[in-house]
Amino acid sequence: MNKIEHIGIAVADLKAAGSLYEKLLNTTIYKIEDVASEGVKTAFLQIGPNKIELLEASADDSPIAKFIAKKGEGIHHIAFEVDNIVAEMARLKSEGFVLLSDEPKRGADNKLVCFVHPKSAGGVLVELVQEIG
Ligand code: ZN
Repeated sequence: MNKIEHIGIAVADLKAAGSLYEKLLNTTIYKIEDVASEGVKTAFLQIGPNKIELLEASADDSPIAKFIAKKGEGIHHIAFEVDNIVAEMARLKSEGFVLLSDEPKRGADNKLVCFVHPKSAGGVLVELVQEIG
């Protein structure tokens, strides 16, 4: 894995959280994107080489809606950049990690993504991301 690509934060209200994080980080949101397949609306802020992804549920059965109902707003996942997501998924599987999908999915911000189950990763939801060239 190359680096932390972004940290995902679950928020109840993307507009309110967006202006809060713009103030906090003293920068502006550079992209807002609907990821209908995951039931989320996302907003991205860039901090040096890293990003913050704000996630708001766009459907009642969205994983973000469930997360907020259970734990409230806050850090949802950590995403690591990889060069070859398929190879990295195979490596993690062989190490005993549980992946949430068998194939990479198309995620926000022009990425292929795959999540690692938090129960197999010390309680942290881990996302692998590979830039789509
Ligand atoms: Zn993410």
